[in-house]
Amino acid sequence: MSNSVEGRAIIVTGAGRGIGRSIAEGLAHAGARVVIADIDATTAEATAAAIRDAGGQAIGLAVDVTDRASMRALIAQTVAQFGRLDAMFNNAGIAQVKQFNDITEDDWHRVMDVNAMGVLIGIQEASKQFIAQGGGGKIVNTASIAGKQGYEPLAHYSASKFAVVALTQAAARAFGKHRINVNAICPGVVATDMWKLIDKGFKDEGLTQRDNEAFEGFSADILLGRASRPDDLVGVSVFLASAGSDYMTGQSLVVDGGMVLI
Ligand code: NAD
Repeated sequence: MSNSVEGRAIIVTGAGRGIGRSIAEGLAHAGARVVIADIDATTAEATAAAIRDAGGQAIGLAVDVTDRASMRALIAQTVAQFGRLDAMFNNAGIAQVKQFNDITEDDWHRVMDVNAMGVLIGIQEASKQFIAQGGGGKIVNTASIAGKQGYEPLAHYSASKFAVVALTQAAARAFGKHRINVNAICPGVVATDMWKLIDKGFKDEGLTQRDNEAFEGFSADILLGRASRPDDLVGVSVFLASAGSDYMTGQSLVVDGGMVLI
């Protein structure tokens, strides 16, 4: 059984920066043809250009994962470019650090829309494409250790990531008969811009310092002694996109340096 992703056509959402960018670069380095999909068209194209400059195959496309028409267009453009879709990484997500009783209905909807509904739509549209191709295919969702335990001050974020774990299990049950593998990755504390509130659009000006404190607090007890780098998620991503994981579905793999032991 091969762990190769050579030639596979793979979409990674939220790949303009951070974890998604690292996953996409790792997949391209391993020989996959990747679509860098992000709501930020500039970072999507910049990431794709960097991959091409390094000798890989990549295109950058703008997408909003909360918009079904946009996701359908993304998959259609991928198939037009690469002839098929082999794997879909539903990675785009947003975070917000807020005390439990300060979370508003708007905060809730915003986080749930991107992190949970975006993954729902991604699974639905990718699975339709896989079934139209005759079955098979890989779906990999980015959940979090916050999808395994509820964290404060991240209650709504945690709820959205529990939803990703649930969607992963339910979709595995729905699409197993089509030989579609649906799994999730649960990163721990990863040093990315997500913790800096860049581009998140939340209006609470006081959050940046609290974000930094939360990041340091969460990093303190990691068994392997450091916060994660985005490229720590590459190995498991290549595996989940390869034939090596063909007999694995419905799983949410914790890759956190040793924070949550289950
Ligand atoms: P990031 O903020 O650095 O990158 C997220 C990317 O998603 C950005 O490029 C952003 O433009 C894009 N994006 C946001 N909303 C989008 C939308 N509606 N449609 C398309 N793209 C959109 O964050 P990151 O740390 O790389 O996080 C990536 C994923 O990993 C998220 O799902 C996040 O919840 C998860 N995660 C992060 C950590 C961490 O500590 N950084 C830990 C566990 C899980």
